[in-house]
Amino acid sequence: MMIDRIDNLSRELCTTPGLAGHEQKVCEIVKREFLSCNLEPVTDNTGNCYVKIEGTDPKAPVLMITAHMDSLGFVVRFIEEDGFLRVERVGGIPEKVLPATEMVVGSRKGGYYPAVIGVKSHHQTEANEKYTVDPYKSLYVDLGVSSREEVEDLGIQIGSPVLYKPKYQKIEGSRVYASWLDDRGGVAVLLDLAHELVLHRRPSTIWLVATVLEEFNFGGAKVAAKTIKPDMSIAIDGGSPYDTPDLKGEGFTFMGKGPVMDLYNFHGRGTLNGTFAHPAMVRVCESAAEAAGIGLQRQAYVGGLTDVSNIQFEGSGGVMCLDLGFPIRYCHSPTELSDLKDMEALSLLIKQMADSLSAQTDLSR
Ligand SMILES: [Zn+2]
Repeated sequence: MMIDRIDNLSRELCTTPGLAGHEQKVCEIVKREFLSCNLEPVTDNTGNCYVKIEGTDPKAPVLMITAHMDSLGFVVRFIEEDGFLRVERVGGIPEKVLPATEMVVGSRKGGYYPAVIGVKSHHQTEANEKYTVDPYKSLYVDLGVSSREEVEDLGIQIGSPVLYKPKYQKIEGSRVYASWLDDRGGVAVLLDLAHELVLHRRPSTIWLVATVLEEFNFGGAKVAAKTIKPDMSIAIDGGSPYDTPDLKGEGFTFMGKGPVMDLYNFHGRGTLNGTFAHPAMVRVCESAAEAAGIGLQRQAYVGGLTDVSNIQFEGSGGVMCLDLGFPIRYCHSPTELSDLKDMEALSLLIKQMADSLSAQTDLSR
C-alpha cells in the first residue's frame, strides 16, 4: 500500500535531523530509497540528490519534481561561560512556540544531544511578561552541563546545528503529528513517486530532486534547475489549511480534502518573490486530477515561498512552474500535523501528471 510506504518513509525522515546546510543524514535515506528503485542517485556540491527517469520521447517536456530535505532551526551563536547556548536562527522560526521546547544539538562527532530551551519559571514571571513573546536572541538552550568546556567536550561549537527534537506520532484516522512534515512529508511523497514511476515508461523524462537549503535561501533548487534545465517543474511542499478555529474563514483549503494547488503565492515579508502557476501546468494538473478522481484544492495566499519561486526564473527562457502541496497544520512549529491520505493523493496526482505529458501537450500560456 502506498499509504503505508508514505507512513514508513515519513516516520524515518521526520525522525532524522537535517537542518538547512546539514542535510546529509536525510540524504542518506533518500539515496538508499532511490537505489532500491534501481535508480542512480547523484549529488552536487550543494548537497542536492537527483535521479533521472528517462522518457521514451525526447520531444516530450522534461519535468523536474522537487521536495526539500532541509528544515529550519538554529545554529550556535556563542556558548556562555556556564554552558548555556545562545543561538542564531536559520529560516522562519516562530518565536512564540519556543520556550520549554525540546531540542537536539549536533556534535562534530556526528551525534545529537538532547537539550531544552529555557523559560523563566511561572512563579518568577511578572504580570507584564505573561503575554509577551521573547525574541530568539534572548533565549538560551540548556544541555544540562555547567561550563563552556563541558559543551566543547561534547563536540558542540559555534555553528553547530540546533533543532527541534525529532518526533513522529500517528493519531486518530490517517493523521500524524511530527517534526518537519514540512517538508519531510514532501520528500516521502517524492520517494513514493520514485517507486511508482519506475514501474513503466512514459514519453517525458522525469527528474526527481531532493533539494537542500529551501528554508534558508532556496539555493539547492536554483542549482538543480541550472543543472537539469527542465521545461517544467513542480515543488512538493506543505501548505497551511484554514480549518482550525483560529483560521476558519480566511481561506478555503482543508485537512483531508486532498492535494493543494497554488494559483498564486507571494512572500509578502520583504522579498519581492512569489509564483503565479503556469497556465499549462494548471491544465495538466486539473485534467490529471479529473482522470484519477482526486479532489484538488485551489489556493491563493500571501506569506510563503517554495523552491519553484526561484526555479521559474532559471534557464534562458524560464521554467513552467507549479506548487503542489498537502495541508500541514501548525507549520514551522515543533509539532506539525498532516493527513497521510492527502500525501498519498498528492503522489497519485503527480504520477498521473507525469504519465499524461507528451510532445502534444499544449504548453501555451
Ligand atoms: Zn517547506
